[in-house]
Amino acid sequence: RIVYVNGSYLPEEDAKVSVFDRGFLFADGVYEVSTVLEGRLIDNEAHLVRLKRSLNELQMESPASPSEIVEIQNELIKRNGLNEGGLYLQITRGAADRDFAFPKNTTPTLVMFTQEKNLLNSPAAEKGISVISVEDIRWGRRDIKTVGLLAPVLAKQAAVVAGVDDAWLYEDGYVTEGSSNNAYIITKAGTIVTRNLGNEILHGITRRAVLELANEADMEVEERAFTLDEAADAAEAFVTSATTFVTPVISLDGKAIGDGKPGPLAKRLRQLYIEQALES
Ligand code: PMP
Repeated sequence: RIVYVNGSYLPEEDAKVSVFDRGFLFADGVYEVSTVLEGRLIDNEAHLVRLKRSLNELQMESPASPSEIVEIQNELIKRNGLNEGGLYLQITRGAADRDFAFPKNTTPTLVMFTQEKNLLNSPAAEKGISVISVEDIRWGRRDIKTVGLLAPVLAKQAAVVAGVDDAWLYEDGYVTEGSSNNAYIITKAGTIVTRNLGNEILHGITRRAVLELANEADMEVEERAFTLDEAADAAEAFVTSATTFVTPVISLDGKAIGDGKPGPLAKRLRQLYIEQALES
């Protein structure tokens, strides 16, 4: 695999970042994951807008303009012959002697790599996934897509140990989001409910696209916090993220949601999302 690091395309074993990189020492960096289908980036402009916002929130400069980033992304897709999968991009504040305050005159580190994955043909989406609830112990700015991901790492590991697929994070009894996706329920009355935007969740690019598709399909949508009890009592549930699209959730904490199978609205939204992505 060829990866990109600070201006060079290198075999992954030759790509190196400093021991003093602030991404490594402080998680002082941000990232994005864009989807690649049929060799093309999906909804990439929105990912780059969110990247810019994350950088601004951390008072960080991008080492490359959006058009330069797109050029590198496409070059990396080409060099790796990537047809389907994800493109990971990370920018950190760069390498400097260890000190908490921002260093002066440090060049940010830009790294990108591809991950080949079967996204369209997904057994998890076919079967639906099971989740457990895990307390959300993350910091107060989850809207910034930083590489500080220890809380979701622990949540996902708790899910693995529990023999399920993922974790839904909750705070004060309300679901915030999944470990690496946005969380939704569909009430018995047929309303799609997902957490409203704020500092408590990541503003998912797929979330925005799916809510738009739901509106166009005249589905009822409510953006508000919902409780774990409401989720347990829902007709359907699902999650969204760039590389998993819409994936049905069929059980929560060992209890089936609805009839314990992927629900019709979740399946329809997955189909609508994929159709739109392939047409774009
Ligand atoms: N929430 C969290 C915490 C995430 O890590 C992700 C995936 N990056 C998402 C939501 C989904 O965001 P997107 O649709 O932009 O992939």
